[in-house]
Amino acid sequence: MPKAPLHIANSQYSEQSFHGIPASRGIVKGTAIVIHNDLIGDYQEHISIDQIPDELERFSQAVIKSEQQFEHIISISREQFPAMSHILETYSMILMDSDMHESIRKKIQEGYSAENAIFHNFNAQKQFFLLAKDPILSERAVDFDHVSSQLLSALRNKTISHQVCEDSIVIATSITPTDIMTFKQQDCKGFATEIGGIASHASILSRSLSMTSVIGINDIVHKVRTGDTIILDGNNGILIVNPTEETLSQYQQRSIEEIQYRASLGDLAHLESKTEKGTHICISANIDSLTDIDEAIANGAEGIGLLRSEFQIARYGRIPDEDAQVEWYSTCAKKVYPEFCTIRAFDIGSDKFAEGLPKEENPALGVRGIRFLLKRKDIFKTQLRAIIKASKTKNVKLMLPMITNVSEVIQTKELLEECKRELDQEGFLYDPHLPFGIMIETPASALDIESYFKHCDFFSIGTNDLTQYILASDRINEHVADIYDIFHPIVFKLIGTIVKDCKQAGKDISLCGELAGFPDATDTLLSLGLQNISISPPLIPGIKRKIINNQTV
Ligand code: PEP
Ligand code: MG
Repeated sequence: MPKAPLHIANSQYSEQSFHGIPASRGIVKGTAIVIHNDLIGDYQEHISIDQIPDELERFSQAVIKSEQQFEHIISISREQFPAMSHILETYSMILMDSDMHESIRKKIQEGYSAENAIFHNFNAQKQFFLLAKDPILSERAVDFDHVSSQLLSALRNKTISHQVCEDSIVIATSITPTDIMTFKQQDCKGFATEIGGIASHASILSRSLSMTSVIGINDIVHKVRTGDTIILDGNNGILIVNPTEETLSQYQQRSIEEIQYRASLGDLAHLESKTEKGTHICISANIDSLTDIDEAIANGAEGIGLLRSEFQIARYGRIPDEDAQVEWYSTCAKKVYPEFCTIRAFDIGSDKFAEGLPKEENPALGVRGIRFLLKRKDIFKTQLRAIIKASKTKNVKLMLPMITNVSEVIQTKELLEECKRELDQEGFLYDPHLPFGIMIETPASALDIESYFKHCDFFSIGTNDLTQYILASDRINEHVADIYDIFHPIVFKLIGTIVKDCKQAGKDISLCGELAGFPDATDTLLSLGLQNISISPPLIPGIKRKIINNQTV
């Protein structure tokens, strides 16, 4: 394993601290590797006719090389980080898309250089997905960026990952999940970036891999130099450059405490999740893939509190048919049986699956979640039928996203009854009492929750969106990341009201936003009366530890 480059003239520079968003826990010290994400550099935009055959060959070689790199990283991922492999497989699918190859070749034949042709084609695809701005689809836009950078790097024989070594902390404008996987292999200690949201793939992955990270530090690549000594505090979102001896020893102590804390989480899976006073707090899991379920079970999750069904679309590149959906939902439900499996209807926005819908200026405020589903009843009915069919194990619950008025619930229940009647006629068995609930993730539903009581069996607070809509700040826009504050007191105040109202009405209430996965939020959430949370599987031990140590509820 290569060693980090020698520390350069540290003593000339005084200690400086920079603040960002804490994306993944941990306190690490290492040597900075600054990557400016300008791996491609300048390139020739156009070529002459006689260069075309060589340019086509150069493109083919770059595809082969990139595919080999993806295959390598996917095989490592399947063994060591299974939850990540489906994201990487998506990259591989984008890379090998024959239509994309054809358009790039066409551009080269028109006299574009390979770099220029790749840039144009990938950028066009990216813009298409960006227009939708739905979180799922915008994630896909980033995927196009990652794959095109990979291809462009292969053309130039350069990659970010090659520059990283043991004990280093990467400082970059942005980082791809593929880079993170490679960093992990190379014992890199963590990373800090300028760009990225708490709900981005890179942040989610760094948490899954327990790799310390801080994101959203303004202009950090120009404030740190390769070779600087760095302390990265992923618990508080702080990066310290050239720490003094005093700071170093303070952080060393905190790092030891952090390591002891992590070691203490190891054997928690089989302990009951209850506070010192004996209140049971149900921890269920947020699931995007089957491998997430294995991890959830291993960590002692009590069921699935949120199955993000739209991840199937991202994985297949299309909406799966009824049979494929039934199979997926049934497999998930059986895997966690007898615990419950809460399937959320597709939370997608205006996109290529929504032919006929207008392009939107503000997609987060537009046709997403239930609004999309009620406009595309064909898609919605197929999904409802699949969920009803999968419910025969009697541990399935149905949940709706993005509700803002009761009529959306009433319309869905009418569709649900229609589907049940059809399935009765077709002779299918299902759970006649399939529990029905909604996400509370808009101020409109949060402030008027009592109107929903007679229609719903349960509720789940989606703080990722609720925060975005309360604070009027886009959850995936790094330029307002400081305003999008998941710990904002108003968010907690509203959670408190929702929990109180639900408890008085005797309705189940859970919280499945990222907030529930932050140990610093646990005591406050419990003090508000919350007794059900659903979180990402790797976060379960840390939160359970906080619950077991709680002495107040
Ligand atoms: C939420 O909004 O808090 C939530 C859990 O849903 P998603 O992150 O999938 O939008
Ligand atoms: Mg949401």
